[in-house]
Amino acid sequence: MKPIEELTKQDIKNIKLIVFDVDGVLVSRGTKIKQVGNKTTFETKKVAKTQIEQIKKLNQLGYKINIASGRGLYMLQNMFREILPFVSLTYENGSATWFGGKLYQHVNSFNEIKKVQIELQKLKNKNIKGFEPKEFIITIHCKKRVKQIENIVNKYKRLYWIWNDEAYDVGVKKIQTKAVGLRKFISVLKLNKKNVLALGDNYNDKELLNQAGIGVSADASRLKGNFSVPLKGRYLPADLLMQRIIQINSKSKIPKSLKNPIASNERTKR
Ligand SMILES: [Mg+2]
Repeated sequence: MKPIEELTKQDIKNIKLIVFDVDGVLVSRGTKIKQVGNKTTFETKKVAKTQIEQIKKLNQLGYKINIASGRGLYMLQNMFREILPFVSLTYENGSATWFGGKLYQHVNSFNEIKKVQIELQKLKNKNIKGFEPKEFIITIHCKKRVKQIENIVNKYKRLYWIWNDEAYDVGVKKIQTKAVGLRKFISVLKLNKKNVLALGDNYNDKELLNQAGIGVSADASRLKGNFSVPLKGRYLPADLLMQRIIQINSKSKIPKSLKNPIASNERTKR
């Protein structure tokens, strides 16, 4: 993997769509959730002003922006409220995409998950913090790994579970991945794999990065890509990537003759 500073104008010449994961990439990792009886409370994170401005800038430069998250639509809409005209939202690990007020459902998981959902909801374990409201996948926040959850899901051969250190995502193997969501959505936009650059940080981004012309990993210990950005530091991974793309474009927008006016004047004199 090359560091993002080595991304060049040549590398991104075909890129038309930039896909961002959310947690760990556009906001810091970690969802606070608490479930007591029938009451679930959780904190909504806000996308920072800087990232909102960067996304608008990328849009002005002609890039389409897609958000690909494991989160539910209601939450993504709140997080990206200010820039909804500039983004499309692919939610619940590729299950569906919201685009300009229209919904594109990519998979139907109802029959596959209806039984396991009821089984999981009956579980009693002090390490289970709560179920995040979802439409197509099941997300269970836990203090640490809960073997009972894994054992229950393992009985269903067609289902997967992914543990990401704060929650389990449960979904249908091969059809509920961010890659499927991306593949179906780029056909709506009439784009190809080579037109896509994707940035992710976690296990559920593996297929997404493989499905993109350029994959950027924000956590080398969990994910392989063509390029990498650091997970921790002064800037968020999405910030660093957007800085680089904006920088490459601003360089290329300056005509050669204007780059060094003194030098070109000198040449005319001669
Ligand atoms: Mg993430």
